This record gives sequence, structure tokens and C-alpha cells, in this order.
Amino acid sequence: MGPMAAREKLSDIVTSFLDIVHDRLVSDRRGAVADYIPQLADADPELFGIALCGLNGRVYESGDTGVEFTIQSVSKPFVYSLALDDQGLDAVHDRVGAEPSGEAFNSVKLEAGTGRPPNPMVNAGAIVTTSLVSGRSTEDRFARILARLSAFAGRDLRVDDAVLASEQTSGDRNRALAYLMHGAGSLTTPVLDTLDTYFRQCSVLVTARDIAVMGATLANGGVNPVTGRRVTSAETCQHVMTIMATCGMYDYAGEWLLRAGLPAKSGVAGGLVASSPGEFGLGLFSPRLDSSGASVRGVAAAQQLATRFGLHVLHRPLTLSASEVMAANDELAAGLGAEQDAVAAQLLQENADDLAVWRLRGYIDFDGAERLLLDLDAWLDARPADRDSPAVIVLDLTEVTQLQSVAVWMLAALATWCRARGMRVIASDPQGRSLGVAGLSQSAGFDDAVRDAAAMAGAAADG
Ligand code: GLN
Repeated sequence: MGPMAAREKLSDIVTSFLDIVHDRLVSDRRGAVADYIPQLADADPELFGIALCGLNGRVYESGDTGVEFTIQSVSKPFVYSLALDDQGLDAVHDRVGAEPSGEAFNSVKLEAGTGRPPNPMVNAGAIVTTSLVSGRSTEDRFARILARLSAFAGRDLRVDDAVLASEQTSGDRNRALAYLMHGAGSLTTPVLDTLDTYFRQCSVLVTARDIAVMGATLANGGVNPVTGRRVTSAETCQHVMTIMATCGMYDYAGEWLLRAGLPAKSGVAGGLVASSPGEFGLGLFSPRLDSSGASVRGVAAAQQLATRFGLHVLHRPLTLSASEVMAANDELAAGLGAEQDAVAAQLLQENADDLAVWRLRGYIDFDGAERLLLDLDAWLDARPADRDSPAVIVLDLTEVTQLQSVAVWMLAALATWCRARGMRVIASDPQGRSLGVAGLSQSAGFDDAVRDAAAMAGAAADG
């Protein structure tokens, strides 16, 4: 590694997850690029990007995550958030339902009697939520929508004029829907102006990275983790993610929730946003679509990440299940190896002035494990480069009550990464619970050993 080469980071482990999924799916050429909006047919079908934004504001990227594409229906949940903030939940849902339609995104089904569209994620419902955004004029209404999308993304977004023109010339079905709703009373603003705003909103350019940040802002209760700015309330985020979970994938919504279990929204340019509440946002982009109008690779990538890492929103075990404990045992043991107490104690003595002791507490999920990686990166960065002894990292898991599958994976990957670079990782769980932690497990002397070692070096042991 030359002096100018960037130092490898422990947090690169997260990027390597994404690379594995990307490499596995890049050969999947099923589906077709949307062509009912002529301008979309020009997209390069080979593009494929996966971005993950954690709640610490770090964005991990694999593939074509910086390429711009039009947001299309991925705009709908974010504009719905603005309508909710402007009008309130009840006023919005007087005009649009909250029921999955089981139909395609451009379905013409309206509720008998009220003329309400089924939900804010299908085109008809989104046209209504767009009309419910406050504004002194059509221009002002769109300016507020663009500002809201930009605040979610953490940068100033702009409209693709060529796609906008293409939407307008090919938008008969959306116009028909809007006239029907206007006739039925669920749409009360002027039809053509409202459609112009809706088409503009669909033509905003974003990247996979942008939509990962947008999804992370929802997952983070409305504060953009990159800019630190509050965009909306935690309550609004909960409403938005609920509608995404039940209606975001149109006629694939039920199966999506069954298999991936994350609130998500697809768009016909190939974008897909998913939020893992309290954990991260995912932004996926690949233009070939399945029959429900969602990106084939995007759906597959999100499903693989969600199932591999136990991220289903209804998956909140109070304790680790037997099979998880076994998986945790195998993965952690493979990563950590088996340090004998004596060996570990000797290591602690020899490295007393060069130890990092990390005590983890409570429920360790992606967010907690990511924090550990980022903290260790900072510790390694600050460590003098001329040390000839290997770094020793002590992970004290005594107070861990639950480990999420993804966190087990990350801890095992952490241990493997450190070992491969000549560092030592010692994990302790003096209660000897089956977290699969080799090393000082069941050693009553662990705390003493750390304290003694630190005292020898004249440093105070960090509790
Ligand atoms: N602009 C597109 C339309 O109205 C959006 C549809 C989508 O992304 N599903 O048809």
C-alpha cells in the first residue's frame, strides 16, 4: 500500500456485502426497460447500482450509484409526506384511501360513491396527494415539492426536461384518471395544472445514492442522517412507511411484504427505495422492469439483503431463536477462532497500552454494529502508524441481550478482517451465553485481566 493509497476501512465490510449482492445479480437480464414513456426507453439497461445509507450518515455504494435517472413513482411517498404535513392524516384520507389495490400502478379503479383512488401509491392516488400540497400557485406548489424531495435527498434536485415533455405527450391515461376523479369530486384542483405538477415531480433526477438517503431519512424518523436536518416528523414517517409497506409495490405488495418485509417504493425508470426502520435506507437502480413495473435486479437485491440479514419489519425476536444461536455460533466461531483464556490473558498483558476495549450493550442491530465499525475505524486511524505490535481489540459482549442476524454477520466479518491484517480480536461473554463467542467466554477473570493490564500501563480502564 503506497503512502497515497487510502487506508482500508473496517466499514468497507458493509460495501463488500453490497458488492457480493451486486456481483451475484448483475448477470440477471430478465425484464424490459419501460417504453410507454418514450424517453425512458433510451435508458442503458445494463446499469445497476446499490446504495445503503446508515443512520450515522455514511453511504455505502456498489455499482452505478452516481448515475442520474428520473425518480418517477419513487416520488410518491415523499410527496405524500408533504400532503400529510400540510393537511393532516384525516383530511388527506378523506380524498384518497389507504387500501392496497391489488392492481397495476395505472389502474382506473376508484371507490364507488366517493370516487376516491385506492391509496397514495397508485398513479390516481398520487395525483390527488400532489393536488393536496399547499401552494399559492402551481409554481409555488411544485417548488415546495422539489424542496421536499431535495431535503430528503440532501442535495438540490432538478427536473429532466426531456422526460417531462415525454410524460406530457404520453400521459393520456393519467389525464383520463384525473378527469374521472375531478368529475367524482376527489380531485378539486384544475386537472391540467395538477397533472403538470405530477409529471414534473416524476421527472426529477436522482441517483441510487440519493434515494438511499431519502429512505434513510424515513428510517431515521424524519431527520436526514447526512445533512442532520429535520425534514418531517417521526409520526409522518411512520404513516409514509406504513403505506409503502402495504401499497408501495402495487400488485406485488403482498408478496413483497412476505418475502422482503420492508417498506418500499418502485419507479418505472428502475429506481427502488426501501427503508429499514431504525437501521438504514436502501437505494437501488436498474432499468429492466418486471410485470409490476419494479426493477428486476432492484427487487432481487433488496430481497436478498433483507432475508440474509433478518431485516423483516415483523422480525423482532425477544431472544435469539435456537437456529439463530446455532448460526451465530458457527459464524462467530469461524470469524473469531478460539483464543484460550491463558493466551488471551497474555495478549492483554503484552498490549496493555495498546488496547481497544468495546463494551456492547442491549440489542445489537445493523445500526449498533455499524457504529462499532465506524468507531474502530476512527481508533485505528488515530493509532500511531509506527507501532510494531499488532492492534488488540477486545469486544465485551457481557451486556448484549440480543443480536440481530446482520449484526452477527458484521461482528464475524470484523473479526475476520482484523485477523487477516494481523490484529487480534478477543471477545468475551463471561456469562457464557451461546452467542458463539470464543475467547474469554466463561472467564470470571476477564474484567480483572483488563483492569490489571490497563493498570500496568498506567492507564485507566474504560468501564
Ligand atoms: N410517471 C409515471 C406515470 O405516471 C410514473 C409511474 C411509475 O413510476 N410507476 O405513469
